[in-house]
Amino acid sequence: SKVLVSGANGFVATWVIRNLLEHGYSVRGTVRSARKGEHLKKYFAGYGDKLEIVIVEDITKEGAFDKAVKCVDAIVHMASPISDHFNHSDDIMPDDLLLTVNHPCSQSIKRVVFTSSGATIMQESDTPVVLTEKDWNIECLEMFKELGGNAPDSVKYRASKVFAEQGAWKFMQEHEIGWDLTVLNPTYVFGPVIHEVTDPSSLNLTPGLFYRYVANPVKSEEADNEFLAKTGSAWTDVRDLADAHRLALEIEEAKNERIIISAGGKISVSASIPAQIGADGDIAEVDIANALDPPPNLSNPLPRGNTGASSQATVDLYLDNTKSKRVLGLKYRSMAEMTKDTLADYEARGW
Ligand code: NDP
Repeated sequence: SKVLVSGANGFVATWVIRNLLEHGYSVRGTVRSARKGEHLKKYFAGYGDKLEIVIVEDITKEGAFDKAVKCVDAIVHMASPISDHFNHSDDIMPDDLLLTVNHPCSQSIKRVVFTSSGATIMQESDTPVVLTEKDWNIECLEMFKELGGNAPDSVKYRASKVFAEQGAWKFMQEHEIGWDLTVLNPTYVFGPVIHEVTDPSSLNLTPGLFYRYVANPVKSEEADNEFLAKTGSAWTDVRDLADAHRLALEIEEAKNERIIISAGGKISVSASIPAQIGADGDIAEVDIANALDPPPNLSNPLPRGNTGASSQATVDLYLDNTKSKRVLGLKYRSMAEMTKDTLADYEARGW
């Protein structure tokens, strides 16, 4: 069967496409320009016409997906302005992609998997808390309503994901449609990259955070150098997230469910500064990297220990991944495996 993947050239999407192709699916990927499809075509050349690339310049335009949805059996909707460094607040889901439902060629669609985020679940708390799929990050919507365009980018990003996910669920309730929806809510996604990157500075958001924090001893003044130390790092390996997307397409019981995808870790929030996030300071990936035997042969020495902690009081949030194991049967890679493979990827690239 054929799966449409929007935002095909992204970090996660490229792994999702690889996973689908490896499991016998055909894939149609959408990108915003022909150039952005070139790397994909080269990387997946061995799959011949099992991978098709189509250009959808502006996914918010009515009818944007008309051509792309023709005769596909399922959709994985991943395109999201995360790459604009959170600097976007529009509701890009549901009006765009769900319009496909009215298209005569969308009759074949059985399931839509929407890549939402753990950001739609995490929330302020005065005490440590375990969050599940029942929880919603409503605060970011309130902050966004109050501050509008002046809201911090992180709030805009979270609000855009909440808007989008809630819009999708609302759409499902209000329409009679032939397909069902599965929403995945991943935490920070790390791991080796296979999409188009040239050097560490071209890594997009979360792989870039990981590089700067775990592999780059040069700390700049930029706040995000300390981001992981401050936020803690509820995380997922991109390869497991790719598995989760395929399983979400395949498993009947996943229909109409939202599912947290998180290997572990915690998010530390400061109750007084919800958007900023307080200090935790100890990220285990740094210690794992330093303990690797043989050590990775990188162009810079690895930073050591706790490199970015401040001492704000924080509260720890944990995202419960039980449902992903129960419903999807998802198995998670360990932090050691993720860290080792990511550093091996850097080494292979000569970084
Ligand atoms: P990337 O930045 O690597 O990929 C984002 C994709 O979306 C790219 O193909 C990009 O295209 C496309 N895109 C961005 N802005 C727009 C826009 N305005 N219109 C159309 N397409 C757009 O991100 P990730 O792979 O990290 O993320 C993929 C999905 O996973 C996103 O939905 C994200 O919200 C979600 N997610 C990611 C997490 C993470 O830690 N990385 C955590 C939780 C959720 P282009 O290259 O042309 O800009």
